[in-house]
Amino acid sequence: MTDTPLLAVEDLRKSFGSLEVLKGASFTVRPSEVIGLLGRSGSGKSTLLRCLNMLETPTGGRVLLDGEEIGFKTDPSGRRRALSGAEVARQRARMSMVFQQFNLWPHRTALGNVIEGPIQVLGVPPEQARTEGLALLDRVGLLAKADVHPIRLSGGQQQRVAIARALAMRPKIMLFDEPTSALDPELVAEVLQVMLDLAKTGTTMVVVTHEMAFARDACDTVMLLESGEIIERGPPDQVMSRPSDERARQFFGGRR
Ligand code: ADP
Ligand code: MG
Repeated sequence: MTDTPLLAVEDLRKSFGSLEVLKGASFTVRPSEVIGLLGRSGSGKSTLLRCLNMLETPTGGRVLLDGEEIGFKTDPSGRRRALSGAEVARQRARMSMVFQQFNLWPHRTALGNVIEGPIQVLGVPPEQARTEGLALLDRVGLLAKADVHPIRLSGGQQQRVAIARALAMRPKIMLFDEPTSALDPELVAEVLQVMLDLAKTGTTMVVVTHEMAFARDACDTVMLLESGEIIERGPPDQVMSRPSDERARQFFGGRR
């Protein structure tokens, strides 16, 4: 890890009408850093993640990836203007997101799902996309399932394909929004194992999760979100075992 942030989030705010969901979140993510975003349901975790890549437009603050502001451009005269949809899409492609619902294309094989984006969006030659796609399926333990359609795969296998698909876009950072929450309990571990492997091999990640053991093992930093504010942050052991905020003590007290 270096000290120069890959992602910088500055005073990020989001309201839906009169409902203030994010109340000014600031943090940085260094290359290879793994951040766990924790917090009870409704605290604003998904909204925060979605504001990072402009799936939601923030009401305030800014997000910089490698020094480039997401969603906006400042011209030489200092005026800030919103980027076009196509420009935002290009930026968004550098931050792959994995959702609770894996949303694979049902009519494509596992490999077909993985190589679609690289070929269509990145312009990777099909043969090369295939070779890289197979390597990624191997990495998530599914090389043998390359030619199988999603309906024939378990939920855990489908989510691992979704992770391979996200990696195939060669993102600078991976964003996970509760990737194991929709899985049957016996399928959670295989997905967490893949994510732990990514974490340990230098993938930069922000992970929304309720899996406390995973947060402890995989994350360099955890942040606790409460009512749209980051109320606690630091190394997992410190935050989870010795939080300073009373609300954080209550949150972790019920989850050990
Ligand atoms: P979490 O992921 O931590 O459960 P969310 O970010 O999904 O929390 O939601 C935070 C709050 O924002 C909730 O009160 C939710 O109802 C509200 N919210 C989220 N998305 C929208 C939306 N598109 N329109 C209105 N309210 C929303
Ligand atoms: Mg959520």
